[in-house]
Amino acid sequence: MNLPRTEKNLIDIKSMNLPDLEAFFLSIGESKGRALRVYKHIWQRGATTFDEMNDIAKSTRAKLNECAEITFLETISHKISDDGTQKFLWRIPQGGAIESVLIPDTNRDNNGRDRMTLCVSSQWGCAMKCSFCLTGDLGLKGQLKASQIANQPLQVSKTLPEGVRITNIVMMGMGEPLHNYKNLVIALRNMLHNQALDISHRKLTVSTVGLIPAIKKLSAELPVNLAISLNASNQEQRVEVMPITKRYGLDELIQCCKELNLPHGKRIAFEYVMMAGFNDSMEDAHRVYDLLCDLPAKVNLIPYNENPDRTIKRPSADQVKAFQHYLVSRGMNCTVRKTRGIDISAACGQLGKGVRPLSVKENL
Ligand code: SAH
Repeated sequence: MNLPRTEKNLIDIKSMNLPDLEAFFLSIGESKGRALRVYKHIWQRGATTFDEMNDIAKSTRAKLNECAEITFLETISHKISDDGTQKFLWRIPQGGAIESVLIPDTNRDNNGRDRMTLCVSSQWGCAMKCSFCLTGDLGLKGQLKASQIANQPLQVSKTLPEGVRITNIVMMGMGEPLHNYKNLVIALRNMLHNQALDISHRKLTVSTVGLIPAIKKLSAELPVNLAISLNASNQEQRVEVMPITKRYGLDELIQCCKELNLPHGKRIAFEYVMMAGFNDSMEDAHRVYDLLCDLPAKVNLIPYNENPDRTIKRPSADQVKAFQHYLVSRGMNCTVRKTRGIDISAACGQLGKGVRPLSVKENL
């Protein structure tokens, strides 16, 4: 068995799925039933030590203490925006910091509950180098372990008031999730498992720049929602801002989407960051329609979040509305993403910017 390890070279129990945990327990002379109980302690009660697991025999706990570890992320800072958005900055032992963003929304979901969406990071930095995105400026500093990905929703949920829970998870934080495929899938399984974080597959979305082979693999493996960052209306324009699309071109991407075996009623979300004078014209809107009209697609327009490190401008609200109106008038599902958390650098494309050198003391 190839067991995941922590920095202390102990077994990283949170980087395992239940079947692997069960196999590990069998290998140390323990039962599958105990593995399940430990799994529930970790993911449902948020246990941080084996010793607090009262219903696990002392001898088992002693064994686990010797060879395994329950890791968690250390909080560097927790900021709350004027609009209620919260940004968590976590220290990771590889030497850096990553971010998660919690976005409360009072637009009720289908169950009449307020939505509470957590935006989760998958990498420390990002290798994709999309020209408009600040996370890309860091380059790829490191892959997150499965435990570090799934610890974000686990630990954020522990800060919420009694009765409030995370309803939606979007893999739209720092990094390209499909570029950390193996760890991502382990983490997603722990988010989905009904004995773990128990998030519905309808409420879990993986966003990607469009890594075609990994899109195919993921959609065959897990029933999560897929979001694709389109961000341009033709190949030439897309390559200009998303260099990775030289390798994974637009035609091939659209073809891949057509061939995905989506569960009935599922749609692929196409994110479209609108940049003034670049991809926001009505000709662009026409081309986006032509590209997507044969797909079970929905479009999410993201008006560009401006920042001092880029000269890119956000289009006017009227321009965004006209673009949306055109797509909707042709029968396409199209929404505009509300900007949230801009005052604390928690909005789309701003993550990584707030990650200052670790010697800087921040308010907890
Ligand atoms: N790498 C994945 C996950 C990141 S999601 C992906 O690209 O899909 C982050 C989303 O924010 C992407 O759709 C990206 O295109 C968008 N984005 C990046 N910078 C932005 C900015 N400054 N303003 C608005 N959206 C931005």
